Amino acid sequence: MVSMDGSQPNSVRLCAHCTDLWTWLVQYQDETVLPECQGTSMPHAAWANVDTARVKNIVLVPRQDGLEQVVVDVGAYSPVFFRRRYKELSINGLQEVSQQNIHCLGYEAADGTGNYVFVFEDGSVLLSTNRNAV
Ligand SMILES: [Zn+2]
Repeated sequence: MVSMDGSQPNSVRLCAHCTDLWTWLVQYQDETVLPECQGTSMPHAAWANVDTARVKNIVLVPRQDGLEQVVVDVGAYSPVFFRRRYKELSINGLQEVSQQNIHCLGYEAADGTGNYVFVFEDGSVLLSTNRNAV
């Protein structure tokens, strides 16, 4: 189990199913927690498994040293989480030059307005009200 203080057992840090630098968990209003990852031997949660109406916080838990934990307090709004996967190709389109996976967490109101935190692989963070900012 991933704890709220961001510490995690090696089973999560070394999980063979997870290739991203962060894993998510949600903390519900009743303080129970649903983690994406509990280690290779356990089934993984998908964001579709999250009971979004009951979410209090979304937590992005780093799987490598040197990266920060990110916490979003959802309040009364609807939580949002997604990953954007970008591949940069060489000019002829045949070779992959680099790849970046960007995590986004945030919340949205019923009218579609929202606040989003985009977390890059170097640990930098972009705050935006635009869901398509990156
Ligand atoms: Zn995992």
